[in-house]
Amino acid sequence: AAKNRSSSSNNNITVAVRVRPLLRTESDSVVHVVDGNILSFDNRRSSSSVSRSKVSDIRFAFDRVFGPAASQESVFDATAKPLVDLVVDGFNATVFAYGATGCGKTHTITGTPTDPGIIHRTMTHLFTRINQLSETQSTFKTTVSYLEVYNETIRDLLVTSSNRAPQSQLDLREDDEHRRVTVSNLSEHSPKSVEDVIALMELGNSNRIKAFTEANAVSSRSHAVLQVCIERRDINSDMSRGNESNVASSLKIATLSIIDLAGSERASATQNKGERLLEGANINRSLLALGNCINALCSDKPNHIPYRDSKLTRLLKYSLGGNCKVVMITNISPSSTHNEETHNTLKYANRAK
Ligand code: ADP
Ligand code: MG
Repeated sequence: AAKNRSSSSNNNITVAVRVRPLLRTESDSVVHVVDGNILSFDNRRSSSSVSRSKVSDIRFAFDRVFGPAASQESVFDATAKPLVDLVVDGFNATVFAYGATGCGKTHTITGTPTDPGIIHRTMTHLFTRINQLSETQSTFKTTVSYLEVYNETIRDLLVTSSNRAPQSQLDLREDDEHRRVTVSNLSEHSPKSVEDVIALMELGNSNRIKAFTEANAVSSRSHAVLQVCIERRDINSDMSRGNESNVASSLKIATLSIIDLAGSERASATQNKGERLLEGANINRSLLALGNCINALCSDKPNHIPYRDSKLTRLLKYSLGGNCKVVMITNISPSSTHNEETHNTLKYANRAK
């Protein structure tokens, strides 16, 4: 039976599942949306005897389940959109797409020019909010960085290779006093419009590492992390006393992180050797660490959160716990071909409760 999501859930972490449409080459769908937050998974046709279960129809409950027909807009409205107001009010927020290669992570996060995904819609909404608030009491400074974590090293995606700082200089700096983690020598950019952001994303995506593997023709082996830092200064002038010294300003700083994670397929499921296997191990290390952090944050008495276990979780130290809001979008394929991967992905997502 599906677990009751509301009784045990951590309110700061929302777990959504999105099922992509069947591709033309795929025929049978083994994942069905039962309602807005329950899906059933028919595990009978699993190829592996290890994961083959006596129970064929497994039900999972999540905060939200999106079927193959769900629009980009409906996914945005229910996941990233509510985060914009929080970030404008000074709270860190994170949204990430998790799942095996080919399951729709990049479609969800980036989308296409005619049907944009979360980044475009979030930035449009963010600039709208900033413009509204700027008319009255606030001034804003927005900076953007875009990096990838590849093989447990950080690469700046927004510099051309000729002026890229040596890898060794991109170090994580933990600033516990201001509760933020920065990356030394990472380039920062100040977009003034959504178009500016999209141009930056295009530059960054062309710099992403892509590798050929036998599991998939082109497989993304890195975690792509967009961070938008918003500084808001509110001017509260107390005119009634007519006293200049009563003009006070308050500063709020928050980071919104939008992350297209590397494919979650296990290295053992591929025929990779040598370097690729090492990459697989490192990808699993960051994903495992992320899962362990979220799992620890969801426990009744969170004490030790293992942020230090990977680069990704160290970077996100102040963007996952505490007052932060985290939205995990889990992308899965409906096809029986990916049964085993789907089962692993749903189990990973299920831990985030
Ligand atoms: P990933 O980034 O997880 O490897 P992609 O986002 O590249 O996966 O998706 C794989 C393929 O499926 C792409 O051709 C993409 O356009 C398509 N696709 C994924 N999700 C959807 C969706 N919700 N609607 C339409 N096409 C989709
Ligand atoms: Mg992708």
